[in-house]
This record gives sequence, C-alpha cells and structure tokens, in this order.
Amino acid sequence: MNFPNSKYWTTLNNKFNHQLVENIKQYFDTQEVFSLRSIDLIIDDNYLLSEADELLNQLFTDKYLDCEIIYVCPQCDDELNEEELDDKGCQKCGYSLEHEEPTKTKVYSFQGGIRKRDISWFFIIHGMNTRGAWQEDFSWKIEKIYGYSIPVAIYKYGKIISTPFLKPFWKKFINKTLAKIKTLNDEIIIDRETQHRPDVVAHSFGTLLISELLKKYPELKLGRVILTGSIISPDFNWELIFQRGQVEAVLCHCAGKDFWSRVSHYWIYNSGPSGVIGFNQKELIHHTFEPTLRHSDFFKENFDKNINETWAPFLTDQLQPIDSNKQLQPKNKKLWQPSKLRFISFPLKYIIIALLVFSIIFLLISLPMGIIKTYNLFFTQ
Ligand SMILES: [Zn+2]
Repeated sequence: MNFPNSKYWTTLNNKFNHQLVENIKQYFDTQEVFSLRSIDLIIDDNYLLSEADELLNQLFTDKYLDCEIIYVCPQCDDELNEEELDDKGCQKCGYSLEHEEPTKTKVYSFQGGIRKRDISWFFIIHGMNTRGAWQEDFSWKIEKIYGYSIPVAIYKYGKIISTPFLKPFWKKFINKTLAKIKTLNDEIIIDRETQHRPDVVAHSFGTLLISELLKKYPELKLGRVILTGSIISPDFNWELIFQRGQVEAVLCHCAGKDFWSRVSHYWIYNSGPSGVIGFNQKELIHHTFEPTLRHSDFFKENFDKNINETWAPFLTDQLQPIDSNKQLQPKNKKLWQPSKLRFISFPLKYIIIALLVFSIIFLLISLPMGIIKTYNLFFTQ
C-alpha cells in the first residue's frame, strides 16, 4: 500500500470538500499506520458525514485504505467485541442491546508502507559540445515509470565548445541557468503543501554549472540531485551545501571509463574527476559505480536500466542511510587533491588559445594583404 501523491490529492480536492480532504491528508502526513471512521473527519459540520463517507470510500476503492465493518454501541459509540455482541450488552457503558441493535459502521485503516516521495518537477541539464538528445527521451521514460506526468524542464544552453575552458564566459551560463530555475519555479503550481524544489539530473559540464550555482547562491534550493559524467572537483565543499539546506540528497553516478571526467581538471577551473572516483565526501553523497561505462554511456543502451534501477529508487524511495564503508574508494584510498600539473596545463591552455587567436587574425589580415606582407607587418621592423 502506498501513499497518495500530490496529483491524487488535487483530484480529491476537485471532487470533495477541501476541509475533509485536508483532514484525511493529515492522517497520511503522519506517515504512520492509522484507522478512522468517517465521523472522525468531521469537525463541526455534521451535514458533511455522507461526503466524508464517500471520500473514504474513494480512498478505499483506489487502494489507499483498507476497510472493515465493525459494530458499535448505540449509546457510547465504542466498538463492541464478540463477547459483548453475544451477551447483548455494552461492557463500557452498560447499555443493553436487547431492544436496540448495535450500529454497523465502517472503519478505514492505513496499514503503512514505504512512503513514495513525490517529484515536484525536474530540471535537467546537459554537458558541453552536445545538444543533449537524451533529455527528451528522459521525459517520457520517467513518466512511463511513474504513470503520471511530471513537469520536466529541459535546459539547453546550446552547443558550446570553447567557453567552458574560459572562466569569464561562465558567468553568462551561471546567470542564465539560475534565472531559468527561478522562473520555472514560479510557474510550477502544485498544491500548497508540496515543496517546489526541482529534482535535478545533470551531465558533464551541467554538473559543474550546478555546483557553481549552489556555491554562489545560498538561496538556491534543490531536491534530489543526480550527477552523471560529473566533472565537479571531488573535494567540492558539500558540507557547506548541506548545512545551508540547499539539497535534499545527491547521487554521484560514476563511470569507470569516463575519459572526459578524468582529464577535465587540467583545463577547466574548479573541475575534477568525481565522475570516475566519486567525491571525497562519502558520508553525505550517495555513490553508484559502474566500472565499464564511459562518459556518455548513461544515455545509451543502459539508459532504461539506469533509470529503473538507480535513478528512480533514488528519486522516490525512502533514502537508505549511507554506509560510507561500502562507498567506492579511490584506488589509493587517499583523498583527492587538485593535480600540480595544472600549473603547467592552465598557462599552456592560454598559450594555445592566444596562438589560435593570433593565427586567425594573421589569416584574416593576410587575405587582402597577402602572406608575405602580413608576415613583414608582424615580424619585421
Ligand atoms: Zn456503550
């Protein structure tokens, strides 16, 4: 038996008295087993009794509640046990059932079960140098699993190749992404009880954008976050992000053969191979390790398997406590640190870019002027 989701509550609200729906919802919100009669849903307006009956019956029909018939004492309204029924007398108030039949009534009960978490909405963001065709696929796959439609915001920033390497250009992406999340959040209207935090699926450069956003904007609040092909630095300060209550949970889905995640930190600021080795922080972050996958394999033949077996349980099941001993460890068991090679590769990056820019200028000028004249212009007095 499962808990009704927010869509279901909306349906009930359209059909029944709001106060009654609110009252029964509060029983479910305790997340504990309970049993009640229709009269228990009524606070003062007794004319609602038949509607309360219908509401509970609806929940029973939709398999959220069990139902059984009991006998109660017409005087004290307490449930009568078999002995009392045989003796034709209520033991609690002494009322005789010789002349009046006991009242038949229905008791509805919820026997508990694993709470399935609701997904409010999704924000999915792809990597660089791709338009992320998997994103559309993801939308309908996820709806197929849950059987109800979940708003999925697909964020595309276009095909970018060079800009991730140059930090000044990042600002644009970070601000655009933040603005997009904020606008969408305002647009999503689910019932007022539900938190509007989006769950996130990010890939590659998208993971880095998300981490920069979280670091820079403490007001940004996300639900459960799935990182694939992550290029966030393994020493990223997740403690701070959790302290500020910015994320509900994070799953780092690692791929053992992710070349891009492994090499990104030589060229891209604040990045690192967390998509391969996971994060240093193993108490807060959930890790799943796939030794044979490569950078973009998450969305290929393993796509369905990943969604069904890893992402969906992470998104909607009750989270299991993280056993940090069972989490994957980097081979040398030491915490990851930024490579010293960066002191060579970062300047090298700028030298290469400068050379490229120079070559382009040189070519552009040499088109009308000719190569020899251009050469003389730059290199001889
Ligand atoms: Zn009685």
